[in-house]
Amino acid sequence: MSKLVAFAAIQGGYNIVSKVEGEYKKALKTYSADTKVGFPNTAYYLPVIYSLLGDKVETLEDMKKPLEFARNLLPPQIKSANHLPYLGPLLDAGMAAILAFEIKEALRYLNEPDFYFHSEDVDLDAGKIWLGAADDTVFRKRGVEFVDGSAPGFAAIVGAAPDPEIAKAIVEEYQNKSLYIFLAANHNGTTVAEQLIEAGVQIGWGTRIVPFGPDISSAVFALGFANRAAMAFGGIQPGDARKMLLYNKDRIFAFVNALGHVGTEWGAAAAGCINWGFPTMADSDIPEVLPTGICTYEHVVANVSHEEMCQKSIEIRGLKVAVTEIDIPCAFGPAYEGERIRKADLHSQMGGGKTQCTELVKRAELGDIEDGKIEVIGPDIPDLKEGDTLPLGIFVQVAGREFQSDFEPILERQTHHLVNYIQGIMHIGQRDIAWVRVGKAAVDKGFTLKDIGVVLHAKLHQDFGTILDKVQVTLYTKEDDVAALTKRAKEEYHTRDARVDNMTDENEEIFYSCTLCQSFAPNHVCTVSPERTGLCGAYNWMDCKASYEINPTGPNQPIEKGECLDTKYGQWKGVNDFVQKASRGAVTHYNFYSMIVDPMTTCGCCEAIAAILPMCNGVMSVNREYMGDTPCGMGFTTLAGVMGGGAMSPGFVGHSKYNITQRKFITGDGGLLRIVWLPKILKEEIKDRLIARGEEMGVPGFYDMIADETVGVTEDEIYPFLEEKGHPALKMDPMM
Ligand code: SF4
Ligand code: ZN
Repeated sequence: MSKLVAFAAIQGGYNIVSKVEGEYKKALKTYSADTKVGFPNTAYYLPVIYSLLGDKVETLEDMKKPLEFARNLLPPQIKSANHLPYLGPLLDAGMAAILAFEIKEALRYLNEPDFYFHSEDVDLDAGKIWLGAADDTVFRKRGVEFVDGSAPGFAAIVGAAPDPEIAKAIVEEYQNKSLYIFLAANHNGTTVAEQLIEAGVQIGWGTRIVPFGPDISSAVFALGFANRAAMAFGGIQPGDARKMLLYNKDRIFAFVNALGHVGTEWGAAAAGCINWGFPTMADSDIPEVLPTGICTYEHVVANVSHEEMCQKSIEIRGLKVAVTEIDIPCAFGPAYEGERIRKADLHSQMGGGKTQCTELVKRAELGDIEDGKIEVIGPDIPDLKEGDTLPLGIFVQVAGREFQSDFEPILERQTHHLVNYIQGIMHIGQRDIAWVRVGKAAVDKGFTLKDIGVVLHAKLHQDFGTILDKVQVTLYTKEDDVAALTKRAKEEYHTRDARVDNMTDENEEIFYSCTLCQSFAPNHVCTVSPERTGLCGAYNWMDCKASYEINPTGPNQPIEKGECLDTKYGQWKGVNDFVQKASRGAVTHYNFYSMIVDPMTTCGCCEAIAAILPMCNGVMSVNREYMGDTPCGMGFTTLAGVMGGGAMSPGFVGHSKYNITQRKFITGDGGLLRIVWLPKILKEEIKDRLIARGEEMGVPGFYDMIADETVGVTEDEIYPFLEEKGHPALKMDPMM
């Protein structure tokens, strides 16, 4: 090991600890010692200190102990004559620096509460690009990915690349390998975060590129994140430093890329990271620390070219990534799932109320389809100009000895996240209300609709290879073809929905969970019972059952409903226990049959949203396709925005269109007869079933008593209509 690098890092450790001691003294003069300190919304205090030392830093006073600990860790200064064959002193100096950095950042939260933007996304307009410490909500959602393998690890990049294009190239290579990219520190005032913004790359937790802060001290947020994962998911006890560091070395595949001049402070930080088993690759000529010992291979490697940075880092960290080659011109992977295509980035779109966009998966005979055949019938992206729209029908035919028709809805629902995995493409909705937004950047790279077929073919084979042998995809973009597919699809949806028609919640002991939507709404868990289909309309009880058969460890798990805790509102002990676990404690219980008393949570996929209309003593519901005003004062988009994050919102509930006419629909609040207003298209769509249910409930003319937008879009406008028709809701018990 080079004496020089040890000297620099130890020097750095001294500098950092002294500086932070100074800042701490200053803070004690400004604030009283019992002033609260800490990172926002976390149960892990200052996580590096808490995890390694077991100390809960909650006040200024509490900082004293860990700071003294850091001071005592500092090794004796190296004299030039000393021979230093061991890593020990270097590691200690590094650790002292990291502990001091965490206190420094906590002091920053105290002194400059607005310095960091407390959000998952940056706000470019407001110039808020530094996100600081991840709060526990973000941590729970993202941290688990480090454990379940959907993110193999993270690349902590400090400094800045020589230019934005190089920064972009390095980061995209990591994204393609599903790694998180944590950004900290600046090089001569420039940061990778700013370079990425300049190069048009979206940054934030959603795209796995997280700008922590502009100073090297903010790199401590990356280590704090890793240690929280070890505590929360690895069962490591706070204070068990040895196990903590070993866990990170063995389980969290992280490393540092130092872009720019490595001074004493960066040197100390790099030395600190070696304790975690995280090596540093630098693009500059710094003394290397090659012998192995703590890290799996080398500790510090210099002079790595930018082209080789990703490859080399992965090799040195000993990371195995399963790269699945999907032959499309855009990058592909879960890292792009949360990416949005904003108006300014939009090239063209299909569906979303502008045109029809429909998805259908159907079983075929083995001899009738050709595996890998992908056809676009009609105009494709190159025929469009910016701002154009196109109808789209995605028709997937699947064949296989083991393939049953029951599996069709499960495969169909994959379209949502698989299309979202394509960089620059966004997918919303399902069935005949799908919506595809194509970004300019994707079109520049050469994206065409055929690529959707390529992705579906490849991924359905990869993920469902055991039940299928052949996949053929046809993409229709001519209006007549799309209309014909939609007509056929509607019949299929109807048949699927009707399969649960004669089942009741009372007679089934097993309900199913669905956590497919947790990538968008992290705490959201749908529970699907026979009489309450998933709020997206795409999964009913039968579908969940089939999904569980195909993939027993997948997103649909059987739940033994257990003891009924409330017959009126529909609440079961087994469901509560499951939901509490699957929402990681965020949701402890919910009711199946009420929109007022602890209703089920809602995610952004819901087909419709019900809302109370107090003056009418009733309920309205609005579906995604309806763009106009509603009597509750909010349109669908506003409602979905307010409640689509997976939170419980009493007075509102997301549900499927089909659910309106299921027998248990809000029975706890009075049931279907509470419905006083629906948009005309929704009313039309479920007309037959509405009429049948009205008769069943002893109100034969019920369908005609429901107001729609032609009657009015305020409570005042519809009330006289309800009175005139003698709507049953007006005579029911008060709702609240
Ligand atoms: Fe599953 Fe619910 Fe999402 Fe539908 S909305 S995919 S049922 S979690
Ligand atoms: Zn959803």
